[in-house]
Amino acid sequence: MQTYDAVNTIVNIIKNNIEKIGRQLRIIEVCGTHTVSIYRNGFHTLFKGYIDFISGPGCPVCVTHEGYINNLIELAKMNYTIYTFGDLLKVPGKSMSLAEARAEGAKIKIMYSPVDIVENISENEEAIIAAIGFETTVPAFALSIEKVLERGLKNVKFACELKTIDQPLKVLLKDHIKVDGLILPGHVATILGVDGFKFVEEFKIPSVISGFEKYDILLSLMSLTQSILDSDFTVKNEYKRVVKKEGNTVAKRYIERFFDRTDAYFRGLGLIEGGGLRLKSEYSAFSVQLKYDYESLSNSACRCADVLTGKLKPFECPLFEKVCTPQTPKGACMVSQEGSCNAYFRFGKWK
Ligand code: SF4
Repeated sequence: MQTYDAVNTIVNIIKNNIEKIGRQLRIIEVCGTHTVSIYRNGFHTLFKGYIDFISGPGCPVCVTHEGYINNLIELAKMNYTIYTFGDLLKVPGKSMSLAEARAEGAKIKIMYSPVDIVENISENEEAIIAAIGFETTVPAFALSIEKVLERGLKNVKFACELKTIDQPLKVLLKDHIKVDGLILPGHVATILGVDGFKFVEEFKIPSVISGFEKYDILLSLMSLTQSILDSDFTVKNEYKRVVKKEGNTVAKRYIERFFDRTDAYFRGLGLIEGGGLRLKSEYSAFSVQLKYDYESLSNSACRCADVLTGKLKPFECPLFEKVCTPQTPKGACMVSQEGSCNAYFRFGKWK
């Protein structure tokens, strides 16, 4: 069978399944990389009337709140060098972004890998590494702390705003959103395994772990719509070439060795018990104390919080495209390449 025929067959199976179910499905893709793939490949138009795709809280930049940015800027003013992933640079803080602070002379540098930073840093530079991300990224930070210990560095600290995926998903599914199915994040699942998502079954919502190529997503939608049709709540794995049942046990051991669970604030979901990771007490010398005033967060006109909880489509935000663009972002969901607003702006043929 030619590829074109095979794709057509899968698309028809998906649509047939949905016709048998008898209504448009609300499907949430938890991970921002899936959001981008869905819009880049035009699946939102291909399945228009069949599937309403909703973006979830799995983009690490999008869920990082402005209080964290404010802290990094304050630390930069105290003459620390801040190392951060580039995506974080344009996220608005209370008075400015990291990019604007850098333009005013703050020492803010882009990192590609925290491990590279600690392997090459001079002992004379007082550095703070901005540690954000979900379980996919956490092992890299664990490795870099190991390198700091090996090198005996005293001049490197970590500003931890690391997140876990299970707690926000539980809060989202319990309190915020009604969906027919979930596309679960393949990247995080490479670390946590299928076992790491078994908790989803308790919500009696079908789900599938998916890869990120267009064929991965189509196969996942075929599997997911079949599960919805059969009321089958078992977590399915359509990313078997990478995701194992038990996940990456070495990476999980690294996470457990260096980090403990802590509460964490998610844009749109608020403070979530056990939603974050902090350095274990024996490594607290390498951790920066961050000060947050959660009450004063998110009072801007940006509606990221509603976008991240499926209450609003990006194009329904009054600022979308008019004043908020990837060049002039007013919120984190437009900054990150994995953000829903950014993906809609670049690929959304929604009209
Ligand atoms: Fe926020 Fe811009 Fe998205 Fe509106 S379009 S929710 S202002 S990021």
